[in-house]
Amino acid sequence: MKTLVYSENVELSLQLLGKALQLSGPGVSALAVGSAQADSLAQYGAKVYNVKDGGTDVIRAALFQVITSESPDLVMVGSTKRGREVAPRVAAALNAGYSGDCFDVQPAEEGFTTKRLTYGGSVIATCKIRGKPAIVSVPARSFQKPEARGLRGEIVELVVSVQSARIKVVETRLKRVGDAGLENAKMIVSAGRGFKKREDLKLLEELAAELDAKMGCSRPVAADLGWMDQWVGISGKKVAPRLYVACGISGTIQHAAGIRDSQTIVSINSDESAGIHELSDYSLVGDIYTVLPALTRALRERTR
Ligand SMILES: Cc1cc2nc3c(=O)[nH]c(=O)nc-3n(C[C@H](O)[C@H](O)[C@H](O)COP(=O)(O)OP(=O)(O)OC[C@H]3O[C@@H](n4cnc5c(N)ncnc54)[C@H](O)[C@@H]3O)c2cc1C
Repeated sequence: MKTLVYSENVELSLQLLGKALQLSGPGVSALAVGSAQADSLAQYGAKVYNVKDGGTDVIRAALFQVITSESPDLVMVGSTKRGREVAPRVAAALNAGYSGDCFDVQPAEEGFTTKRLTYGGSVIATCKIRGKPAIVSVPARSFQKPEARGLRGEIVELVVSVQSARIKVVETRLKRVGDAGLENAKMIVSAGRGFKKREDLKLLEELAAELDAKMGCSRPVAADLGWMDQWVGISGKKVAPRLYVACGISGTIQHAAGIRDSQTIVSINSDESAGIHELSDYSLVGDIYTVLPALTRALRERTR
């Protein structure tokens, strides 16, 4: 069996490679952007096709080219913004089966089965892709990086001609700093509509400073009130910290879908029947305006 992997995110491409090596042994190839990524992937024995430019049109054309020449059975693309943009387009161009955001892929009769969360993360859907290649996108942390092998796979410099680019970059803006980096954060403290005023987020900031945590929020706090840039949940960031503290968040299915992979969830909510308590390892039934200052004080005293 042959597998091809691609993600512009080096860490994620290595995780895909880990799964590909399990499935295909030596029959693994990868698409990389730039020689640093190509070198990392080649160290695990993959045959690496390297392109210099990571634009959508180039990656789409490069994947198309490599799939046509290598004829892989399975193509795994990282579920990043770029990956989700490119993978279905390549599948459509090849008339191949596609399954998005799969956290598992297994060979099956006449193709592959995939597993993905659906209905806001409350249900696991098993999908079957028939025919070749099967194209899937895979979120970060679904698979593990391979063990170091000390190998040296072949690196092929790929020249891709993009006839007429259909996407034109008109402007590039830097992201606003602040609550970025939620996806890789080890600790997150998160605000919900339990906060009455923007200024009250100070209480959360103080706790975040004590824990060295990033700040997140539920969707209404960012999308409706505009108090933060990014929110956690199915339509926001999916997070997987060691500690997630939900403060004044009710725990709807859309929020829950984004925090399921957290190692430990702590909830602070004055309503004993709030759904967030069901999801939590530790529930504090109480008023955030009392509990947060007390928690911050206690942590401060402990670290003194
Ligand atoms: C298509 C779609 C996608 C969505 N995607 C997302 C998503 O990605 N992420 C997301 O978060 N939401 C998402 N939502 C919105 C979601 O349905 C909820 O509306 C939202 O999660 C609720 O946010 P909340 O918990 O902050 O507010 P609420 O549901 O209003 O909950 C506030 C909570 O605070 C508690 N509280 C109030 N005062 C205090 C206090 N003083 N002390 C302690 N607790 C207090 C209350 O008991 C309550 O449980 C989506 C909705 C749709 C339709």
